[in-house]
Amino acid sequence: MSANTGASENTSIDGVEVMALSVEAIEDLVGRALSHRASPEQIERVEKELGRYPRGIVAVGASCVCGNPLAVITRPLLPGGIPFPTTCYLTAPEAVKAVSQLEAEGRMAAWNEALAQDEDLRVGYGRAHRTYLAFRRALAQGLGDDESHIEGVSAGGMPSRVKCLHALVAQSLVMGEGVNPVGDQTLAEVKGLFDPVVCRCERPWGCAEGQGAGPEGR
Ligand SMILES: [Zn+2]
Repeated sequence: MSANTGASENTSIDGVEVMALSVEAIEDLVGRALSHRASPEQIERVEKELGRYPRGIVAVGASCVCGNPLAVITRPLLPGGIPFPTTCYLTAPEAVKAVSQLEAEGRMAAWNEALAQDEDLRVGYGRAHRTYLAFRRALAQGLGDDESHIEGVSAGGMPSRVKCLHALVAQSLVMGEGVNPVGDQTLAEVKGLFDPVVCRCERPWGCAEGQGAGPEGR
């Protein structure tokens, strides 16, 4: 792809869709992130989820039904000038754990085999990759961040490999179903352990620390 700027870039070349979302939909997602920046309470919760301060956080990109952050949108250039390609970052402990379990069971080897054999999957995965890059480009432009150090680099191993299911799930959560086929399928596979529409949070949003047992009292 040539180095067009976001707004003028077409979503199809010779009638073949190159992105999973329209330019307008991407700008809409980025606009929402920029106008709903992470609040101090959200940042504090993400810090608890990750066990470290979420440097470069722009906004919460997806939330549990209770309101807890599930995935965050991170700026392309962290404070201190560190390029950061994983723009959509999974933070929910329940999700991280469920996805780690899949990875530990060797799910990624199966995905890489599927990528080698399934043309439709490759095409869809390529679209997810380009959508990720367009999203980050729009974000970088909105923030005035330089993303030249990570140009063409998305996350999770895209577009040719599956290296981190957490990153792919984060894209699915932030951008919605139908964008990343691997992220979508991974969400379906972990549904019994993690589901964005079913709150299984140890400490739901709004619960003060130490009151997180939930109604059943775990
Ligand atoms: Zn919840």
